[in-house]
Amino acid sequence: SKPVIKSAANEIREGRFCKRCGEKLEYRFYHYSQLGDYYCPKCGFARPKPDFDAEDVKVGDQLSFCVEGKHIVANYKGFYNVYNILAAYAGVRTAGFAGEHFGDMLRRFNPENGRMEQFRIKGTGVTLNLAKNPAGFNQNISAVMQDQAPKDIIIAINDNAQDGIDISWLWDVDFDLLGNDSVKSITVSGIRCQDMRLRLKYVDIPSVLEGDVEKAIRDRVEDGVGNLYVLVNYTALFSTRNILKRLEGEK
Ligand SMILES: [Zn+2]
Repeated sequence: SKPVIKSAANEIREGRFCKRCGEKLEYRFYHYSQLGDYYCPKCGFARPKPDFDAEDVKVGDQLSFCVEGKHIVANYKGFYNVYNILAAYAGVRTAGFAGEHFGDMLRRFNPENGRMEQFRIKGTGVTLNLAKNPAGFNQNISAVMQDQAPKDIIIAINDNAQDGIDISWLWDVDFDLLGNDSVKSITVSGIRCQDMRLRLKYVDIPSVLEGDVEKAIRDRVEDGVGNLYVLVNYTALFSTRNILKRLEGEK
């Protein structure tokens, strides 16, 4: 493997200490969260040698990589999905199957759960994705920015009980990465849209305030660039997905 995403100095790192002796782990390379090629300088604890290794990884509008000489292409975005797909492949192979239809299976699979789920509304391609913690949100932002085409973004943040009512984690997300010419607009929505707007203001990124998620989506479908990302936290996911399903069905 080669490093695809270099460590950002302020990136969140879970499990950064050796689980055997408590020493701080070192990384030969680092992907995100705790993932990468780690080792303990004190006791020798280290990343096990992987049985299945993704090589020649490419991320962009879709993902591709090679494993065991097979070329895998998936209509997904987000570097982290290389890990997910490789884990599924490893499961298939470890269970004793050859995995010769793995590529066909990937092509036919539509997640339908708000994880990079695609919708088409009046000519606008809409991608819905869940982001409920800083590590997930940073991966989400990387995935969105891998798409270099002009885009509009809606961020909906709720603070219902299932979300955890403390939304201070928003300050741990690297929102400054959204300050890019390809981002044509950012609309903040959901119950805590004001907090989200303040968070963006602190990294000098202007945003449109629209607390009503449906109105936010309708507005950007109407006046946007035809490529819309909707990033939501947990309790905003199902309501937003229902809205997108309904709008997709409207003529
Ligand atoms: Zn150790």
